[in-house]
Amino acid sequence: MMENLKKLSRKNANGHAVDTQKLNFEQFKRIISTNIGLIAAAFRHQFIIPEFQDFSKEIEEIYWKCKENDSGTVASYIPQLKRMSPNYWGVSIVTIDGQRYSIGDVNIPFTIQSCSKPLSYAIALDLLGADVVHTYVGQEPSGRNFNELILDHNKKPHNPMINAGAIIICSLLKTMYNPDMSSAEKFDFTLNYFERLAGGQDLGFNNAVFLSERECADRNYALGFYMREHKCFPENSKFRECMDFYFQCCSLEANCEIVSVIAATLANGGICPISEEKVLKPESVRDVLSLMHSCGMYDYSGQFAFKVGLPAKSGVSGGMLVVVPNVMGMCLYSPPLDALGNSCRGVQFCEELVKKFNFHRYDNLRHASNKADPRKHKYETIGLNIVNLLSSAASGDLPGLRRHKLSGVDMKLADYDGRTALHLAAAEGHANCVEFLLKYCNVPVNVKDRWGRTPLEEAVAFGHTDVINLLQLWDEEASRNSKDHSDDGEPLIPEFVAKQDN
Ligand code: GLN
Repeated sequence: MMENLKKLSRKNANGHAVDTQKLNFEQFKRIISTNIGLIAAAFRHQFIIPEFQDFSKEIEEIYWKCKENDSGTVASYIPQLKRMSPNYWGVSIVTIDGQRYSIGDVNIPFTIQSCSKPLSYAIALDLLGADVVHTYVGQEPSGRNFNELILDHNKKPHNPMINAGAIIICSLLKTMYNPDMSSAEKFDFTLNYFERLAGGQDLGFNNAVFLSERECADRNYALGFYMREHKCFPENSKFRECMDFYFQCCSLEANCEIVSVIAATLANGGICPISEEKVLKPESVRDVLSLMHSCGMYDYSGQFAFKVGLPAKSGVSGGMLVVVPNVMGMCLYSPPLDALGNSCRGVQFCEELVKKFNFHRYDNLRHASNKADPRKHKYETIGLNIVNLLSSAASGDLPGLRRHKLSGVDMKLADYDGRTALHLAAAEGHANCVEFLLKYCNVPVNVKDRWGRTPLEEAVAFGHTDVINLLQLWDEEASRNSKDHSDDGEPLIPEFVAKQDN
């Protein structure tokens, strides 16, 4: 659409900027025709987060709150990381429909470090299959530091999200998939995969970081040798090349905006929302998200899964890749790290996010709660609830009505004609539903629709004697106001209830 607009603007040459030129209806139609699906969805509020501007405002609020957090220290094991400003703080969001919001230092390049781990794991799954990959690496959280010298009881690395596991994943990619590729070719091949995950955007390579990583890698080499002793590497692995490949993946460089697209591709089952390219298989992405959920935040993974309940992966440079599956991907970037190696502001942001929104994996999406659901249109919930509620009442579906009540639906809701569930149940002669609505849902008996009709008048008009009796009895009792019916376990008309139950 923008291309079309530019073309037209060039042709018109009337001094108007591309996005302020005036179009007639025919031109407008022509210009949007190639993107009609996307534009129609936007105007109909059919994106995954329909009220995206409201949502972005909330994100901005959390952003400023976390900016005040000045705890943590910047990683200092190599000079290139030590130099990063502790003040950098950026947040970028991309939804699975390609809606984007960014705030703060989102264009500062940083090396992705451990955020590369879920990505190389994903590529290995896609190319080699989960069975092969998991003969070399486990799926358990290690309960230890990310670079601890430890293997599981099968003498395999615990999972692909810690250094030992990621080194083995790199060796699998290097040795088991197209082993004839040179190191340079394998690097290009992997970089290309990462870039496709990012919707075709360029990633950089920080050679100084790579050289420093390799220089200061005593622990990673120790891990490598320990694993070689235990035959963790696939046959024919070239040890040094595999280690280099791991350091290269850590030294790939991107910024918040770019990494957020990668996160969104993971949120979208492997299809990049920006380029619409299918980069990974959905089953590979599912496995990646599972392990990010249980192992992505080093030794804080258990607490993070408990408090935040979202798959995430942090890196030593302060980057964090967070996924809300089927909704959106985020990249958070702030260099100061806590004692466990996670970005302080990043972790705080996630905790604040799930306080506001029901994104925690185990948040209930149906029942009323004090958290907002940004997936829903403001009016959609009410509209859908009314339709469902009234259909249950009209068809005499008592279990359905019970379900609505248990889900926190307001049983007094009326449609645009002022018709309530009670009107419909009365008109259709569903006495059990009428009784339920009066007795357990506090629906007012004399509620009027827009023609001024009450449920009793409906029952009379259609000759439903049971319902007439019930409504009259209730009305009398209500006007006497002597009894609290909601606590009264006795049915109003015992014989009637027995009959219905049969
Ligand atoms: N380059 C780092 C290492 O291997 C990556 C680890 C991390 O980000 N925590 O030690």
